[in-house]
Amino acid sequence: MPRHPLPDWSLPAEQTALIPDISGNTINGLGERAKRRPEIVYWDSPDGLAHGPLQGYFYARYFDSPEIKAAYSADRGPEELSPVAATRVERTPSEWTAAIKTETRVLGAEMVGITAVRREWVYEGHTVAEPWLVIMGLVMDQPRVAMAPSTAEHTTSAVEVAVHIARIDKSSKLLANWVREQGYDAVPRPGQRASGDIMLLPAALEAGFGELGKHGSIIHPVYGSSFRLAAISTDMPLVADAPIDFGADDFCTNCNVCSAACPPDAIFQDKQWVRGDRKWYVDFDKCVPYFNDHYGCGICIADCPWSLPGVAQGLASKLERRRIRKGETGSR
Ligand code: SF4
Ligand code: SF4
Repeated sequence: MPRHPLPDWSLPAEQTALIPDISGNTINGLGERAKRRPEIVYWDSPDGLAHGPLQGYFYARYFDSPEIKAAYSADRGPEELSPVAATRVERTPSEWTAAIKTETRVLGAEMVGITAVRREWVYEGHTVAEPWLVIMGLVMDQPRVAMAPSTAEHTTSAVEVAVHIARIDKSSKLLANWVREQGYDAVPRPGQRASGDIMLLPAALEAGFGELGKHGSIIHPVYGSSFRLAAISTDMPLVADAPIDFGADDFCTNCNVCSAACPPDAIFQDKQWVRGDRKWYVDFDKCVPYFNDHYGCGICIADCPWSLPGVAQGLASKLERRRIRKGETGSR
């Protein structure tokens, strides 16, 4: 589906006035070679965040759209968590792992993976008491995502994202309640637009969801990047999944579709040091003003070749055949 023409855009004075003195990249740890825990930059209560006023600007526009507001505010699932059952159902970690993955899929997630919580993913000043994360991914409708970016006149892509923000919030609450009814603790962690206590993206990579792409999102070997993440943390005994390597990282080295398509030129061509890891990184300060004026933007996700319907699996198989020819191995 062809994208509507991109409207001309320059940073409006109204946003310029809200940009804080400190760079979001500095808070994120861009250029830092030493490991440290992350700090929340944007998606939390705006009070006390340097970028809180910019977030307020985003939401004022976002909820000004009746279609987005309705999708975002749709059924968010139970308001209260179930009490943890007094008697635990006893099963082996393998049995619980199979059962919770089945339940996650029953709740509508196409993707599910498990990893142990790592302190390095937990935001500074926050804690996660439970030892396990069950990550879920809900796949969005690519033709609707491909309409990014949204504008006041064309909100299709933003509505699709908002629908999935609501869906995944509900699914994570229902999964947490299912676990609690088995006698184990569980906390829903509904993901983006609410950072919560822990970064879900590195946890999802560890749980086998895919590889980090140049556009700063995960590339999955079947679903590309058009999906939303959420999780629960739990003390239910589980078995961890393993990260996968199917060649997407190498592919990004020689592809610049997302960086060429990004209107504010926010996507770095090369990997950057960020809190002790060298990885793909999106310039927060360049992305956010455009993101704010375009209801979450998403051009980089929409245009990534892995996100095109039916493309990812063929691309992953081609990369695997190439690796076999070269005598290299990946893991899927
Ligand atoms: S568009 Fe290309 S460079 Fe960007 S994330 Fe997708 S594959 Fe990687
Ligand atoms: S969301 Fe938009 S502005 Fe931000 S990196 Fe992606 S394409 Fe660029």
